[in-house]
Amino acid sequence: MTKEQSESKGDNGEEDELKWKVGDRVYALWAGNNSFYVSTIAEVNETEKSVLVTWDDADTSHRKVPFSQVMRPSDETTAWSRARIEKRATVAETKNKGRCLFTNEACEAGSVVFVERPLLVALPAVAPLLWQCLQKLHEAAPLNLGTVTFHFAALVSVLTLEKADIDIIRDKYVPEPDEEPNEDVTRILKALQDAPLDGQSSKIRTLDAKGFQRLVSAWRYNSFGHHKEDGLVLYNRISMCAHSCDPTCCWSYGDEDAFVLRSRMALEKGGELTISYLQDEDLLKSTAVRQQKLLNWKFTCACPRCCLTVDVGRGVRCQRCRVGVLYPKVPSGGFESCKVCGGNCTPEDTQMLLRMEEDYVARVETLDKKDLDDVQIVYQAALDIFEKHWILYVMDTILWEGLRPKNIMEAMEHQRRRIDFHQHYYFRPTFILAWCHEELGDSMAQTWPSRKWHLQQEFQRAYHMLSILCGTTHQYTASPYHKLWQATNSASNETKAA
Ligand SMILES: [Zn+2]
Ligand SMILES: [Zn+2]
Repeated sequence: MTKEQSESKGDNGEEDELKWKVGDRVYALWAGNNSFYVSTIAEVNETEKSVLVTWDDADTSHRKVPFSQVMRPSDETTAWSRARIEKRATVAETKNKGRCLFTNEACEAGSVVFVERPLLVALPAVAPLLWQCLQKLHEAAPLNLGTVTFHFAALVSVLTLEKADIDIIRDKYVPEPDEEPNEDVTRILKALQDAPLDGQSSKIRTLDAKGFQRLVSAWRYNSFGHHKEDGLVLYNRISMCAHSCDPTCCWSYGDEDAFVLRSRMALEKGGELTISYLQDEDLLKSTAVRQQKLLNWKFTCACPRCCLTVDVGRGVRCQRCRVGVLYPKVPSGGFESCKVCGGNCTPEDTQMLLRMEEDYVARVETLDKKDLDDVQIVYQAALDIFEKHWILYVMDTILWEGLRPKNIMEAMEHQRRRIDFHQHYYFRPTFILAWCHEELGDSMAQTWPSRKWHLQQEFQRAYHMLSILCGTTHQYTASPYHKLWQATNSASNETKAA
């Protein structure tokens, strides 16, 4: 029996069988705006299957809440048992993408799909001698992966996990299941033969090179960077989530590195659970750039966004009327006709525009964020050619961050443009978009504190988006909530973060 099974004994996914009692501290749904708030149970009505709650903020409305809309505070952050997770999501073989993960229940945007504890958290402190030894090897001659973390995690798996859990890691997706051990793997194993090691060093010294290689690749293609330290985390079910540039799920960290998977949008029963392997900011880059980045995982993304035949994140100004915006057709590369003047782009203009785009993409990649004057020159010139283009978004981000301490009015304009582009190209809740709104609200509070409606609007958007991304009780969500409360500065019922 593995550690997890013994710990989770008695929790066989019977989460519906909870018994509430007076005095329980819970999160309950406030019908005023369908968000969860902290409260204490004042009465339990078993026949009606509802509770009467006392809201922490002394609000007296919507106090009666059905059982189904009451949660334990830990439900959203504490890892579920494997049995409960398996009840919630199923792994199934797909035609083109191998094994993927599907929900067994329909869910609303923002609901928790499941919370999974790590299979292993490979931090240097777990095996300090091994870590030092690998670091020394890497300093003497750099490893090809540019870091020791993958090899370290593979070796820590062997040192600390039961066979059943190591088998779970061996079973994970790798592009080449039959991969021969590479020079780094051979070199490391050789060096470890007589190095001082932590714990049962014989487990490592008897490890075969091919098995080690497989573990390294499993970690490389399936793990997540630890959110606080230089190390990696690997999960069991989560690794079955395929990538999408329009992922159906989002995630945040719960207690003890637990992975909290939430639906980003409403999902039908049987809907696929996908996450993004790319960072939010890369989801705002063109299809070609995203596909290039995904080559790191050795697959070609065929998500709905990657299959669009026009890339609306690469707009250029119409060369005829100078008003309309033209978007390129992919993969052919020609431009659509102008929706303002109806004109078509000549083959010469098309060539010229695509070449300029290449030049600007290269230029933007090498911009020095600290040299704001230079960024502004490039930005100004780019505006003459591009509109609704991701490179403008990249420069708007640099200019917002750089100008904010010096010239808040000018900075705010760039922030607004960032929001416009995000909504134009990829209008789903993301941490970037939520924080754009929250920061814009902060700036408004500084510049026009009297424009309450505007502050409220920005903080509300941030609050609602973060509620979907990480839940109403997360500290990220609490931040715009409190600002909204301050901006509203009113105790009236329906303004509870409405
Ligand atoms: Zn894609
Ligand atoms: Zn035109």
